[in-house]
Amino acid sequence: MPTDYFPTLKELNLFIEYNLGEDTALEIILYNKFPNGVFCKTCKRVRRHHKERKRRSYCCDYCGTHMHPTAGTIFARSTTPLTLWFYAIYLIQSSGGKIPASELQRQLGVTYKCAWRMKDKICWHVALQKTYSYKYSSKVNGRQYQLGLV
Ligand SMILES: [Zn+2]
Repeated sequence: MPTDYFPTLKELNLFIEYNLGEDTALEIILYNKFPNGVFCKTCKRVRRHHKERKRRSYCCDYCGTHMHPTAGTIFARSTTPLTLWFYAIYLIQSSGGKIPASELQRQLGVTYKCAWRMKDKICWHVALQKTYSYKYSSKVNGRQYQLGLV
């Protein structure tokens, strides 16, 4: 089974340094899910796939089955560009999770609600992955989180 993908700081650094775009972000996610070739669930084998124009998906060259690399990741069902997600992860990781949502909003040029949601998802993921100790509390929708390895 493909594993949930989350970019590393090294990948994010490269991504930002070379100003890579949306398609590359999707390719990175795809490659990390399928390092040995993209598996087609219909053909039940590794097949060549091609990117679908203007969609966040790939198509099996043989049978046409669609494959969404972001399924099962924190990027699933989000209409926010992957480039902004990657940048948000970079900002959050490099600040040790301390960057306020308002600062993310400013740096990414998104709404506060969007910035808050991105931070919420990214921090949850980081906490769950036990990448580093993280404590988080939120009153926005009545939930209170205390996560961390401390
Ligand atoms: Zn196929």
